[in-house]
Amino acid sequence: MPLPHASPVAAAVLPFPGRVVPSRLALSLPHLAGVEMEALRATLESGWLAPAGPTPAAFEAALAETTGFAASLATTSGTAALHLGYRVLGVQPGDEVWAPALTFVATVAPAVQMGAVPRFLDVTPEGWGMDPALLAEELAAAARRGRLPRVVVPVDLYGQCCELDAIIAACDRWGVPVMCDSAAAMGAQQRGGRHAGQGARLAVYSFNGNKIITAAGGGALASDDPALIARARHLAGQAKEAWPHYEHETTGYAYGISSVLAAIGLAQLPVLEARVQRRRAIFATYAEALADLPGLGFIAEPGWGRANRWLTVLRVDPAGFGADREHLRRALEAAGVESRPAWKPLHLQPAFRDAPRAGGGTAAALFETGLCLPSGSGMAAADQDRVIQVVRQHARA
Ligand SMILES: *Cc1c(COP(=O)(O)O)cnc(C)c1O
Repeated sequence: MPLPHASPVAAAVLPFPGRVVPSRLALSLPHLAGVEMEALRATLESGWLAPAGPTPAAFEAALAETTGFAASLATTSGTAALHLGYRVLGVQPGDEVWAPALTFVATVAPAVQMGAVPRFLDVTPEGWGMDPALLAEELAAAARRGRLPRVVVPVDLYGQCCELDAIIAACDRWGVPVMCDSAAAMGAQQRGGRHAGQGARLAVYSFNGNKIITAAGGGALASDDPALIARARHLAGQAKEAWPHYEHETTGYAYGISSVLAAIGLAQLPVLEARVQRRRAIFATYAEALADLPGLGFIAEPGWGRANRWLTVLRVDPAGFGADREHLRRALEAAGVESRPAWKPLHLQPAFRDAPRAGGGTAAALFETGLCLPSGSGMAAADQDRVIQVVRQHARA
């Protein structure tokens, strides 16, 4: 079937019927800062569109400033940044790559596509991140087997920092590098006010449309080791050697961010702190408005950081609440409200049926009971009230 705007003429006069008005309340929509159009116009007029020129460089400088890392590379997505991270850490077919059981598939997908074997470690019930004590035990056992992982990849789940210091300490003991998947954690803080991902060998961020700030798609790889980022940059640009002709000692990718996306990301970075505050306020409103209902809970903010509350995750204990998570999800859907079960743990995914694992019961329980609620910073207060009302209506009378 031809696309509605397939002809060049139609494309040239592509009608914009106005803002997209979603028919239902979404989990997390892009929230413009208001200066994106200006930034886009300046970028288009500069003539730089390709992944080169001053705008991606300016975005990278701003990212390094925001995250506190010495160097960063802006990419087409967070997944691309993860892929580059696995490449520069030298992941080979058969290597083990360790990740928490509770995360998005993109955390490990590029490594699996490179032939690595993922091993899934359970998370803690406090912060929902990789369990550092379990990690230390598993590393000691792996050392005895003579098969340490090539890299450990903890995740800042839903914008809540993992216990990165403890994870790094456990890995340092065996010389295993840590790549922190902070894709959903822009603006979140760890102990001491350090930005999410700080301290890891590599950190990954995402600027997908549903994240706390966006570049309309995009990501970044950051490190305090400029040589690692230089290597990633080389691979992101098709691994062209410094010759007049195209010379390649290895193969790379087309992973560099375009100027257009970088301009949007650059326009969004200054509102990051305001977006964190708004999402935290949304979380606080849910927590207060539902506090009196039996059988409901939230991820508490553990003592070691300041979450960006990218998504508010409600925990539904069916015995106490009177309805289970899926019942509540359907009720919200019927009321025009999108909600979504917490990540289905990777060790329960058919794609990873045979992957080795350590524990997983906590991750599985969080999946059974966890429901992500609409949390977009652009959401109207009346819309959030609507969500709260639907939840209240389904509580045990
Ligand atoms: C969003 C996300 C990613 C992937 O980022 P993209 O920019 O969408 O490729 C990876 N890991 C986690 C935990 C995420 O939330």
